[in-house]
Amino acid sequence: MITRSAVSIAALALALVSTAAAAQPSGTSQALEKNFDAMISSADQLQWLQQMASAPNHVGSPHDKANADFELAMFKQWGWDAHIERFDVLYPTPISTTLELVTPQHITLGGQEPPIPEDPTSNAPGMLPPYVAYQGDGDVTAPVVYVNYGMPDDYDALAQRGIDVRGKIVLARYGGGWRGLKPKLAQEHGAVGCLIYSDPADDSYAEADVYPRGGGRPEAGVQRGSVADMPVYPGDPLTPGVGAVPGAKRLSRADAITLLKIPTLPISYGDATKIIASLQGPLVTGKQRGDLGLAYHWGGTDAVKVHLAVKSDWSLKPVYDVIGMLRGSTYPDQWIIRGNHHDGWVMGASDPLTGQVALMSEAKALGQLYRQGWRPARTIVYTSWDGEEPGLLGSTEWAEEHAAELQQKAILYINTDGNGRGFLRAEGSHELQHYFNQAANDVADPRTGVSAAERGRAGILAAAYMGTGREDPELIDAAKDGGDMPLGPLGSGSDYTAYLQHLGIASLNLGFGGQDESAGSYHSIYDSFYHVTHFDDPGLQYGAALSKVVGRLVLRAADAPRVPARYSDFARTVSHYLDQIQKLEADQREKDRTLADLRREGDFRLASSPQDPLVAPADRGITPVFDMLPLENAVDHLKRAASAADAMLGRESALPAATQARINDSLAHVDQLLLDPQGLPGRPWFKNLVYAPGTLTGYGAKTLPGVREAIEQRRWDDARTYVVKTAKVLEDYANRLDAAVAMAGSPS
Ligand SMILES: [Zn+2]
Repeated sequence: MITRSAVSIAALALALVSTAAAAQPSGTSQALEKNFDAMISSADQLQWLQQMASAPNHVGSPHDKANADFELAMFKQWGWDAHIERFDVLYPTPISTTLELVTPQHITLGGQEPPIPEDPTSNAPGMLPPYVAYQGDGDVTAPVVYVNYGMPDDYDALAQRGIDVRGKIVLARYGGGWRGLKPKLAQEHGAVGCLIYSDPADDSYAEADVYPRGGGRPEAGVQRGSVADMPVYPGDPLTPGVGAVPGAKRLSRADAITLLKIPTLPISYGDATKIIASLQGPLVTGKQRGDLGLAYHWGGTDAVKVHLAVKSDWSLKPVYDVIGMLRGSTYPDQWIIRGNHHDGWVMGASDPLTGQVALMSEAKALGQLYRQGWRPARTIVYTSWDGEEPGLLGSTEWAEEHAAELQQKAILYINTDGNGRGFLRAEGSHELQHYFNQAANDVADPRTGVSAAERGRAGILAAAYMGTGREDPELIDAAKDGGDMPLGPLGSGSDYTAYLQHLGIASLNLGFGGQDESAGSYHSIYDSFYHVTHFDDPGLQYGAALSKVVGRLVLRAADAPRVPARYSDFARTVSHYLDQIQKLEADQREKDRTLADLRREGDFRLASSPQDPLVAPADRGITPVFDMLPLENAVDHLKRAASAADAMLGRESALPAATQARINDSLAHVDQLLLDPQGLPGRPWFKNLVYAPGTLTGYGAKTLPGVREAIEQRRWDDARTYVVKTAKVLEDYANRLDAAVAMAGSPS
């Protein structure tokens, strides 16, 4: 489900700390990795991709089940102990969708995307029509209001113009925040329906030649997706917190709060043009308009009316997770988990199968190493998830069903979700930053032959010079120094969510991208083998490179004395997040004061233009000053404890084996200390107090979310409560590091 924009490199502080490189492979492991690389084959991946993307593979489709069965057979053939685990989940599919313009003239809109002659699978039978999962069925006819991205500040802009969406159908464009927030905010503002279209500004001719000349989204291309309220909880809407197994306690649909209530459909820009062309009301200017070659108006009058109706089959459907294990010889009860989903929206060639075939290459190579006599020290668990697209279903249900065992055994979760060509990017738990960078240093970029890390640094520096990259001095300085590239924080949008944010298992999510055109086929019938092999990763060379990066991560985590971590990277990053929150609080207070002044002086009235008359934004009061001392103290403690722990781990190999074992055990589950049992306000399923998806961003991460979101959303009591709660989890984490240092005794 992940999008290109969701995997951008985050703006984080970086400095090199000289501690022993626990992840640096020894001579034997270098030979093992060379052997592993020799077994990775782009030709294998091309063959699997063509087969697995030959028919629609959405949840409940025959080919999705066939792909799971195929993978199970391959895992067994490669020597893995493998099985399929099934869950039965609520998964609506459309029985009928209707969209028509009724005023000013009758035009039938919507329906399936047309085949393209060059793309041989674009006329496959059994493809689901464009729809969004977990919208609310209904049949409405109403005027249309254009709401830009349909995010909170867009509703502020509408309010300043006196435009109200009550009783109307909103037309939102994709982008600016997660898809599911658009109908959610629309229903909260009283709209009766929601349409979401792909504007060419984001994934078509403004970015790439249109398919099939290039990979850009064609005029009739539509982005499907999920609109469940996943920032509250992902997984089966009927079984929050528990596995969707036979006999599980299931909510009624009426009680499942992640289901939306208004009918919603995704549409093409071809269809959106026919609606936007007739809208009346004030002109939309600046960043709030898209790239269609016509004037945009906000609408809201009776000049344009649309009939929208959706009816779904709400029966339970099976999801099939494929689980393979290679048992560890020394620490069989410490698990390294690696996953990618196998279900797609239609053919799913890029999302998710480019990542899935890379995972399969790794599994084949690891199986062969195992046959040759190699035994991992830890248990390696490979997972191919079903049902990720509608709501992270397979990965979440498996995590919930096995929560106790996973919290005892799982010490790392590594995720991918598709792959393309370009730069290697990752987000994750920040103590894993150096470990990730070492793998990126040791794998060649297929196009240039330099390391993936070096190419990444070159990309940042070249873009910064041309003014096309991120204006982030810390990122640019890191690239100049040739040091580690910062990891981004994990929000949501893929299968790591339950592992990191519900169970507290350290996680990484990675992939190559940024120079492919997969955004143009994303979640449409054109996400096909043809599109991938022409525009995203011809020859799947980057697929092989991804296997080599992930293979190194898995081998090193499975065989090293402990999972390689550098705690000062985590501490420094958390300190940076606290700085951001303190700046946020001060800036917000200053802006509140300015607004109060402007309102008092009547400045908005005096500045209003005859073409676009605006009233003042509503008064919101003044952001108070918060006592952040508990959090400042905790971060300070964390920094000192992390430096001491890294220094101790640098000389750990000189300690008695029994002491090393005790230290490694005490640190294996340190990330679980970041969980608060009551979770975040209004969403107790999300328990991690350092990393969460934003309630109003969905994919995008909110770090130190209990405090940050409370300030942003002006919930002052929550902000005070979560300063204390967040300080406590950071103190617990620092205390665990201190205890590990104490076990080592003083340096001799
Ligand atoms: Zn995906």
